[in-house]
Amino acid sequence: MDPGAHREFRKYTGDAISTLSWDANTGTHIPFRASVSHKHHTWAKTHFSNPELFLQPRTEKEIRLIVNLARQCGKRIVVVGSGHSPNDLTCTSSWMVNLDGFSSIALENSRELQLEVEAGIRLYQLANELEKRGWAMPNLGSITAQSIAGAIATNTHGSSLMHGTLSQAVVGLTIMLSSGESLRCSAMENEDLYHAALVSLGGLGIITHIVFQAVPAFNLAWKQEVVKTPRILDNWKTDLWTRSEFIRMWWFPYSGRSIVWSANRTEEPLRERPHSWYGGWLGRFSYELALYFSTWFPWLTPIVERYVFSMQYRWEEGPAGSAVQKSQDALTMDCLFPQLVNEWAIPLEKGPEAIQRLQTWLDGDKGNKSGIPFSPKGIYVHAPIEVRVADTTVQAEKPWLDQSCQTGPTLYLNATLYRPFLKNPPEWERYYNAFEWLMKDLGGRPHWAKNFISTSREEFWGMYPKMKDWVELRDAVDPHGMFANDWLKRNLLGDEDDTELTQIKEQIGKT
Ligand SMILES: Cc1cc2nc3c(=O)[nH]c(=O)nc-3n(C[C@H](O)[C@H](O)[C@H](O)COP(=O)(O)OP(=O)(O)OC[C@H]3O[C@@H](n4cnc5c(N)ncnc54)[C@H](O)[C@@H]3O)c2cc1C
Repeated sequence: MDPGAHREFRKYTGDAISTLSWDANTGTHIPFRASVSHKHHTWAKTHFSNPELFLQPRTEKEIRLIVNLARQCGKRIVVVGSGHSPNDLTCTSSWMVNLDGFSSIALENSRELQLEVEAGIRLYQLANELEKRGWAMPNLGSITAQSIAGAIATNTHGSSLMHGTLSQAVVGLTIMLSSGESLRCSAMENEDLYHAALVSLGGLGIITHIVFQAVPAFNLAWKQEVVKTPRILDNWKTDLWTRSEFIRMWWFPYSGRSIVWSANRTEEPLRERPHSWYGGWLGRFSYELALYFSTWFPWLTPIVERYVFSMQYRWEEGPAGSAVQKSQDALTMDCLFPQLVNEWAIPLEKGPEAIQRLQTWLDGDKGNKSGIPFSPKGIYVHAPIEVRVADTTVQAEKPWLDQSCQTGPTLYLNATLYRPFLKNPPEWERYYNAFEWLMKDLGGRPHWAKNFISTSREEFWGMYPKMKDWVELRDAVDPHGMFANDWLKRNLLGDEDDTELTQIKEQIGKT
């Protein structure tokens, strides 16, 4: 054994790195792939952090070495997938672990259409692997840039009442705990850990493997239609959300209109998407520039939004484009510019009330008919506000921290605010406070990954009957507090720092 192995990292790990990295089976030192100058930021560049070490392990042994060292040195670990969570869930000044280099196929079960994958695999890589086998993901959100572990960690969803969230396809997973032990879990094995880890917020350990349940590949015939928003609300309770397998609505509050996008499986030949005005550089640049000017002259926003709506779709009601595409191409979309997003899950039947009250508020709210106790004066918002659905009551195995409704279908309302050239629009916090007040009034719960600003720890505990179980299990599997990061402490765990990790830190401080 070379006692000087990994000398460059001793400043961070002490001598432990030489002994712990020694692999007697191979007679070599396990690689410790660390960078000391990594600058982390979220996709929308809303949050930044400088981790002490940025670690990109490529094998399970390398992951275990990191965990064992972190425990010995009293370090916290935050795992980051693709960094697409809009809030600061992934920020840390301690050790940041990324599994981009741990993303291969571990096992294939062709009979059951299941793939066991290393958890750093991105959704687009997984979709490609599935496609090679004639399989597909049953459901998807708007993009495929996320890692599979990151996507399920915050309960990423798509838009379909015939599906739950993406975690529905995760039939098993392996998690490495702060002890260095790896536990496999599923509905049959370590069930509690499985249900807690389906939405783990990175707080239980490092998910290293996921068993993914695929479906036979399918194509989707989709169409989008311009419909006046009040007409959609009138049809809410008929077949609006059930007439297609996948359906979503983009609500444009300054246009009086929405787009209803719907898709069903088909055997028709593939047909390209229609031209997208803001898919071209000129449309995209002029839209972003107009939004940028609107940050100084916010009253321009409705004019910009109406213009963009008519360029991208059409002003008259009726069909506004269709295509036939592979499922992963059809379900994903262009999310345009860096953005703030605040998405809440409310009961589906509350949708019309939510949209009407928010529209009233955005229209000036004379006489405070919306009931929202914040002034709408000077507030101008971006479009669309995304309106999507899921039904996790169809999901056999429910994550304990599933934010969707437990007794019926869920509506997700996503208040997007673009950050043109990375500039926040004015008064965004008042808008989000008002929006969140309304969502809470309607029994809502925020999407874990997004930019909610007014929800306290006490409120989260009140929102989740399983929160106590989740926190107790978390403390039991991570007595070292290695995965109790700042975000979790602020939002769920509290600031009490009585974990074993603190004691280790204190001991290190004394030596
Ligand atoms: C443009 C855009 C579009 C989006 N569209 C949708 C959408 O349609 N529907 C939706 O619901 N959400 C959507 N999101 C949110 C996104 O799906 C989630 O934030 C998702 O968690 C991001 O995955 P990630 O790989 O980037 O994970 P990160 O953001 O990097 O991490 C998220 C969480 O996962 C944890 N984590 C990551 N890897 C592991 C691991 N191996 N083990 C344990 N914990 C881990 C992290 O610690 C963190 O807590 C979108 C976000 C953006 C920016």
